[in-house]
Amino acid sequence: MKRSVKIGSLIIGGGAPVRVESMLKVPLTDREGCREQCESLLAAGCELARSALPRAELSGDLSWLVEHTSLPLMADIHFDPALALLAMEAGCRAIRINPGNMPLGRLNDVIATAKKLGVVIRIGANGGSVSGKQMEEAKGDRAAALFLAVREQAELLLNSGFENMILSAKSSSVPECVRANILIAQAYPGFPMHVGLTEAGPGDGGVVKSTAGISALLSQGIGDTIRVSLTDVPEREVSVGYEILKALELRSHGVNLISCPTCGRRRADVMRLVELVRPMLDGLPDGTSVAVMGCEVNGPKEARHAQLGIAGTPVGAVLFREGEVVGEYPFDELPEVLPRFFAEAGSLGKD
Ligand code: SF4
Repeated sequence: MKRSVKIGSLIIGGGAPVRVESMLKVPLTDREGCREQCESLLAAGCELARSALPRAELSGDLSWLVEHTSLPLMADIHFDPALALLAMEAGCRAIRINPGNMPLGRLNDVIATAKKLGVVIRIGANGGSVSGKQMEEAKGDRAAALFLAVREQAELLLNSGFENMILSAKSSSVPECVRANILIAQAYPGFPMHVGLTEAGPGDGGVVKSTAGISALLSQGIGDTIRVSLTDVPEREVSVGYEILKALELRSHGVNLISCPTCGRRRADVMRLVELVRPMLDGLPDGTSVAVMGCEVNGPKEARHAQLGIAGTPVGAVLFREGEVVGEYPFDELPEVLPRFFAEAGSLGKD
């Protein structure tokens, strides 16, 4: 049976859509900066953001932020039980802790407060939190050691009668991360899981690593909430997260833009067409498919599943809607014709 947890009104697991998370990259002391980042993340589609709470004196800032944003926040605590208690008092309805690093008596205080307030606890391990003992027990297998670290934390909560939790294991190695999460999913079937690579890095490498790891897990049904961890702005983490979910056909978010790679038959500059079209797609309903193809001969056939099609010709483009030709226009007229074409298509799927 798939379990779910609830952070405010956000449901994670239990068959809910896979959630897209990020993490605030502004310190809590910068209240306005944090609030603005929350708003920007919300606009990008972010559904949950973690915020580090490294010191007790920042709990007032956290409390202010909880009051000034509608984006659900998870306080990132790690091992200090006093901070976990402060985060919950500040209004956070989710905390991330490492129960294995907390004295048992204090952990019980955290669990009792979380139970009372309905707070979700995310536990988990990453490469850095694996102990020498766990590595030894796993005979040097880092994925197995990660699983053992998560199991130790999960058992601490479960033995205290606490089940309102999300499990996670992260590594910067794709195979290690995937195997560790498979072991967790097998040992704790049904519990919501947060999946992602840690420290995936910048640029294409970070995106590819995150995509490879997260997709390998999601395609096996493992993962209820994801974070693409990039050395980049958090909004990019969210947009890449949605691109992964769109590619796996798990969620529709924004427009599904299909464009051909071009080949020797190309009759138009597809990159130029895509650049022209991309800013015009915002008003279209979620999940609308738009194909931009390099030739009018094969392009429409290749994009026959798209609701809107633009196929390049030597002088401009042919526009299609639901497979039917709308008209043929020279390139110079496209900046005027395309906004009208997309505005009319804005009603797609609303009938
Ligand atoms: S749509 Fe035309 S140009 Fe693009 S890849 Fe297909 S055949 Fe080549």
